[in-house]
Amino acid sequence: MHLPAGVAGPTEISFDVRCFVLPVAEGIVVIDTGMGDNATDIHRALERIGAGWDDISDVVITHAHADHVGGLNEVLSRAGNALVWAGEADAGAVSAGISSGTATSEPKVRAAADGASFRGLRVIHTPGHTQGHISLLHEGEGLLFAGDAVGTMNGVMVRPPVPFTADPAEAEVSLRNLARLSPRRMLFSHGAEIPDAASRLRELIERSAPQQ
Ligand SMILES: [Zn+2]
Repeated sequence: MHLPAGVAGPTEISFDVRCFVLPVAEGIVVIDTGMGDNATDIHRALERIGAGWDDISDVVITHAHADHVGGLNEVLSRAGNALVWAGEADAGAVSAGISSGTATSEPKVRAAADGASFRGLRVIHTPGHTQGHISLLHEGEGLLFAGDAVGTMNGVMVRPPVPFTADPAEAEVSLRNLARLSPRRMLFSHGAEIPDAASRLRELIERSAPQQ
């Protein structure tokens, strides 16, 4: 994704947009669907784990921003068995974007309650970036999918750009809640995984408050 100068700061920035295909005990969970035109990449990821579109049990949208939900119709047109989940406050926006031509018989978005667990994933409400932003903790692996609550750039943990964050103060509370989970690993919607992410997150929180 490429943002020209002036959109998220004085200089132009480029960053990657990640979705995840996660095999779980009873299904496959896709976390976020990118901006669209990702079907080939998602299909390749499914093939790598010996699965196909029909094996997708759930699609979880971390939040209703275009670079996370843009590919949802494309995914749902292929993943006929998938349930769709989003945080309560973002579920309406996610639902509004689903076209009627999807393969799922029930494309209605389920509201993922804070603390709820499904398929070994615990829902962590992390409002701030959007009101309904959620993160997911794979409890067995201690693996935290942070969404846009936090990301990395060039190997350094960073907050998402302030212009895209609805409530920076609330986002900060959410970051502290994530830090308390002390995840073994963290994966981000933007930016590669970095070692010892839980420590880096605590340092980020202590080091700097977001610029308003
Ligand atoms: Zn976002």
